[in-house]
Amino acid sequence: IFRNFISGFPKESDMFVATGPVKLKLPEGSRGVLLKNLYLSCDPYMRILMTPKNEGSGEVFAPYAPGSPVSGFGVAKVLDSGHPDFKKGDIVWGITKWEEYSVISAPEILFKIQHTDVPLSYYTGILALPGLTAYAGFYELCSPKKGEYVYVSAAAGAVGQLVGQFAKLMGCYVVGSAGSKEKVDLLKSKFRFDEAFNYKEEHDLDAALKRYFPEGIDIYFENVGGKMLDAVLLNMRDHGRIAVCGMISQYNAEKPEGVCNLMNVVYKRVRMQGFNVFDHFQQYAKFLETVIPYIKEGKIAYVEDIAEGLESGASALVGLFNGRNIGKQVVVVARE
Ligand code: NDP
Repeated sequence: IFRNFISGFPKESDMFVATGPVKLKLPEGSRGVLLKNLYLSCDPYMRILMTPKNEGSGEVFAPYAPGSPVSGFGVAKVLDSGHPDFKKGDIVWGITKWEEYSVISAPEILFKIQHTDVPLSYYTGILALPGLTAYAGFYELCSPKKGEYVYVSAAAGAVGQLVGQFAKLMGCYVVGSAGSKEKVDLLKSKFRFDEAFNYKEEHDLDAALKRYFPEGIDIYFENVGGKMLDAVLLNMRDHGRIAVCGMISQYNAEKPEGVCNLMNVVYKRVRMQGFNVFDHFQQYAKFLETVIPYIKEGKIAYVEDIAEGLESGASALVGLFNGRNIGKQVVVVARE
């Protein structure tokens, strides 16, 4: 349950677990679905919903209501349905609530899972929002070409690990940054990035980027914003592209950090474009056709960070903002 609106970094105590009786039946005449939740996704945008007014993201999701369950993406089993698109026994992914059982009265953002021969938890990450974000963000917004120099921030996370691997499959030179040695090792060994560095150990981000990109960056996949973006702007090549996916370093800031080096967009004729994955859902079927074979053929590695039980949900979500998660952060409510 979401306790109340916050400012600054989220804390575990901003959420609490409540127990109560559940009715495992839909109300008479309901057009909704009754779900048994299996896997819940921890996503950075959820922090934005913890403030009463969120410009932009509010167009997709309203802020959380104090005293109500946290909502978010997840994987669930349909126990009862009054909706023509769903029937008992279906496995679905989409918007649900952080509960054991949920009634979703208007299941507009709920998709039936057709391919169940992969781990179902993948439908919180690689086969859901973060996967489609990486796919559309990289292939569409970055206009990548073989041999180009690609830089990914928050590279060991849900989106970043996939962007880097898509770029490698395209034949690009790929460098990622992350916040610990363990993550840096993972980027180089498991995800096969060409290079990786711990941004927390670099006093001069501009110098670090010059070390890894002596000839400059063609593509920057932006996940963090702030100082990192400023340093990247100094290192872009002519006609470079920046896909602005998110800016997690700014989500808890009372006052967003200024960016000083924006004139480089002009000097270097850089194309910088923000995007929202919800504008790319029409690509979802094509995306699955591409990515499921990549998973099965071992062309893409995927790492999840699994937290067990609803009671671990708050700390798992808060962990996104101090980098505790290694890979996609998932909360398991039940496995079947
Ligand atoms: P991750 O799995 O990458 O988790 C967040 C990671 O961000 C943490 O593990 C941490 O890793 C890093 N981080 C946290 N605080 C900071 C900070 N102050 N500075 C630098 N890094 C920080 O999350 P996702 O992959 O789910 O999301 C990545 C980005 O993509 C986010 O910005 C998110 O908002 C955005 N997004 C955008 C979408 C869109 O439609 N545009 C859709 C989905 C996601 P580390 O140890 O490296 O610090």
